[in-house]
Amino acid sequence: MLVDYVEFYKFQAVATLTRAIVDPDAVSKTDIVKVAVNVPLSREFDYLPAAGAPLPQPGSRVLVPFGHRRQTGVVTALAGESELPGNKVRRCVATLDREPVLSGDDLWLIRFTSNYYHHPVGEVVAAALPALLRQGKALHPVLVHVVATDAGEKTDLDALARRAPRQAELLELLLDAGGNGVDVETLTEQLPTWRRAAKPLREKGLIGQHEARIYASQEDEPTAGQPGPTLNADQSRAVDAVRAHQGFGAFVLDGVTGSGKTEVYLRLMEQVIGAGKQVLVLVPEIGLTPQLVSRLKRRLGLAPAVLHSGLTDLERLGAWRRARSGMAPFVVGTRSAVFTPLPNVGLIIVDEEHDHSLKQQEGLRYSARDLAIVRAKHIGIPVVLGSATPTLEMLHHCRTGSYVHLELPHRAGGAKPPALRLVDLNRTVARDGVSEPLAAAIAEHLGAGGQVLMFLNRRGFAPTLICASCGHIAECPRCDSRMTVHAHDRQLRCHHCGVYRPLDDTCSECGAQVRPLGEGTQRLEEALQERFPTRRVIRIDSDSTQKKGAMTEALSLAERGDAEILVGTQMLSKGHHFPNLTLVGIINADQGLFGADFRSSERLAQSIIQVAGRAGREDRPGEVLVQTAFPDNDFWARLIDGGYRQVSEDALAEREATRWPPFTRLALLRSAAHRQRDAHAFLEAVRQRILDMQVDGLRVLGPVDAPMARKAGRYRAQLLLQSADRQALHAVLARLRPALEEDPAARKVRWSLDVDPIELF
Ligand code: ADP
Ligand code: ZN
Repeated sequence: MLVDYVEFYKFQAVATLTRAIVDPDAVSKTDIVKVAVNVPLSREFDYLPAAGAPLPQPGSRVLVPFGHRRQTGVVTALAGESELPGNKVRRCVATLDREPVLSGDDLWLIRFTSNYYHHPVGEVVAAALPALLRQGKALHPVLVHVVATDAGEKTDLDALARRAPRQAELLELLLDAGGNGVDVETLTEQLPTWRRAAKPLREKGLIGQHEARIYASQEDEPTAGQPGPTLNADQSRAVDAVRAHQGFGAFVLDGVTGSGKTEVYLRLMEQVIGAGKQVLVLVPEIGLTPQLVSRLKRRLGLAPAVLHSGLTDLERLGAWRRARSGMAPFVVGTRSAVFTPLPNVGLIIVDEEHDHSLKQQEGLRYSARDLAIVRAKHIGIPVVLGSATPTLEMLHHCRTGSYVHLELPHRAGGAKPPALRLVDLNRTVARDGVSEPLAAAIAEHLGAGGQVLMFLNRRGFAPTLICASCGHIAECPRCDSRMTVHAHDRQLRCHHCGVYRPLDDTCSECGAQVRPLGEGTQRLEEALQERFPTRRVIRIDSDSTQKKGAMTEALSLAERGDAEILVGTQMLSKGHHFPNLTLVGIINADQGLFGADFRSSERLAQSIIQVAGRAGREDRPGEVLVQTAFPDNDFWARLIDGGYRQVSEDALAEREATRWPPFTRLALLRSAAHRQRDAHAFLEAVRQRILDMQVDGLRVLGPVDAPMARKAGRYRAQLLLQSADRQALHAVLARLRPALEEDPAARKVRWSLDVDPIELF
C-alpha cells in the first residue's frame, strides 16, 4: 500500500524535518551532527561533536545536552554547516558508540517511518532501539554476577535462616546457581529485595561479585534439522514462485487454515539460510511465538533470535545484538521486530498478515506489515505475507498485479475443512450462553474422544450488572461504558480504563438485588464445568494468562488434550494447533453483524474463519457451530456457501462502490480533553486549516464524537481525512504536523495522528 510511496519519499528533502532557521550570520561548520532525540518534535537537532572525540558516524548514539537535561540521541546525518548561528550550536557530551549501532538501511527505515506516519523521528528511533540502548547503556554491557564465596559455601544455612531468613534465601539461591552465580538483572527479577540482604552477606565475606562483558552471546550449536513432509502441488508452486523471483516481490500466501503455509515458510527459509542469509519472521502476538519458534528450531536445527515484549531488557538486547551481528540465522518477533538490524537479510515473512496486532494502536501508529513490505522493497528481497483470511488491501494488490497471489485452497495431509452450521437463538434458549443444540454437540464430540473450543470475545463473568428492580446498570464513572462483573475476585471492572470497585449484592440506587446480565468467559467456563463435571475446562484470556508462564502452561494443557473443554477469547483463535480439537462453538457472533465500521464484515469473517480453523486439523473432521439471533442475515449465506473468498470479494466490490480503502486512503486525527468543547474546537480549527489548503479530492469528515465519547475521564473526538490520492493526502499531513506542534490550542488537548487507521469506530 505504501510501497510505491518509497520512490516519492526519496525525493522529499530532509528539509521537511529540519526546519530552516535562516540566519545570514550562520557560521560555517565542518562537522555538525544531526541528532534524533526522543522528544515529540518533528525535527532533528544540530550538535558539534564532543570535545576531543572523533566525529560520530550516522547510526551512533551520542549523549547530548537538551534543555536542562541530558538525552541519548542517535546521529542521523552529518552536515557541513548548521542553520543555527555558530554560538548557538552546543556540543555533544559524549559519543556512546565506537561503531554505529544502526546501519544506513536501518536509518533509512526509521526516516521512512517518520515521514510516512508523520511522527517525530526521535520517537521512531526510540521505538526501533531496545530499551537498554535507548537509555544509553553499552551495546556490550558489563554484567555483574553475584556469587557465593568459599566461606559462603561452608555457612550453616539453617542457622542463618533462623537469624536472618532473607540473607539465607539469597545465599541459597546463589549456592544453587553454582560457580557463575547469578547476574544482577536475573537476581532482581527472582528476588526483588536482594540488595538489602546482600549488604550484610558481603560484609561477612559470604558473597562476592565478578564482572563479565557480554559480546555476541554464544551461538547455539546447529543440530541436524528434521526433514519435513513432501510438499503437495500447491505448496511446491508457491515455493517455486518465490524462489524463481529476483529482487523485491510481495507474495500473498493465501492458504486456508492447516493448508501448510508454515511448511512453505520453512522451505523458503531453509534455502535462504543455506545461502548464508538471514530471515525475518514477524508474528502478530507473543502468545504465538513459542509454538512457532520451537517448530522452526526443530525443523531447521538452528536457534533464532526471538524478540517480543515478554523478554527482560537484557534478553531483548541480547537477541537484538545477535540479529545485528548477523549471527542469528533468523529472527522471530512481534511488531517492533520489523526494525531489527539485519546486515544480511534475504527474506521477510509476515505470518497472519491480517492480524490487527501488527498495527500499533498508540504512540507511533505503524503497521509492521506495511513497513516489512517497504523494507523488503528497499533492500530488494521477497516478502511473504501469509494468512487464511488475507486483508482486502492485500487482495486488492493481487488483483491489480502488484503483488503475487499464491493460493493453498486445501488442507495439507488431506484433513477436511470444518463444516459450519448456525444455531438459531430465536428457537432455543441459551442457558449461560450455551444453547441446547450446542450443548448436545459438545457432549457428542467429547463422547467421541474429541476436544472442544468455545469462543467468546468477552472476558470477565458478565458484561453488565443490572438491578432486577429499578433496572439501574452499573456504569464506569470515567467512561461511556458499562462495568464488567468479575465474579472470582468479586469486582466490577471497566475494560476501557481499568478502574475497579468491589462488587455489591445490592443496587446502589434502590437497594434491591442486582444480577449479572449476559456472559463473559468466566461465566461460560463455570457453566460448562457445571454441565460437564467430569471434564477438565480451561479458560484462556488475558485475565487467566497474566502471570508469567501461565499462557504457555495453559496452551500445553490444551495441546496435550489434558483439558477437553477450552474457553477463550480471540487469544485462543490464532494459529494454534490442537490436534484433538473437533468442535468449535462461537457463542455470540452478532455484534459484528451490525458494526459501524466499514471493516466489520471483513473482520467478523476473519475471526470466524480463524477460530473455525482450529477444528479438525488432523484426521477427524471438524464441526463449527455459530450461535446467532439473525440466521437470515445474508452475511451467513455468503460465508457458508462461498467462504472467506466470497465475503472478501463482495466486500471489495462494496468498498469500491462506497470509496473506502483500499480504494481511498485515510488518516484519522484524534483529540481528547477534559472538556468536550476543547476536544471539538481543536479539531474544528484543524479542519479549517486543512480546508484553507484547498486540496482537490480531499474529504474532511467531522469532527465528531469518538464512538466512546468519554474514556478515562476525557472527552474524545475525531476528524477523518480521506482521499483517493495518497500523495495529496500526505502532502497535507506533512504541512499539518509541524503546524500542530506549534499551535498553542493543541496544548489544551491530547491529539494523535493515525495514518492508515484500522480502527475507526
Ligand atoms: P498452516 O500454517 O497453513 O496452518 P501448517 O504448515 O501448520 O499449516 O500445516 C498443517 C499441518 O499439515 C501440520 O501438521 C503440517 O505438518 C501438515 N502438513 C503441511 N504440509 C504437509 C504436506 N505437504 N504433507 C503432509 N502434511 C503436511
Ligand atoms: Zn472506564
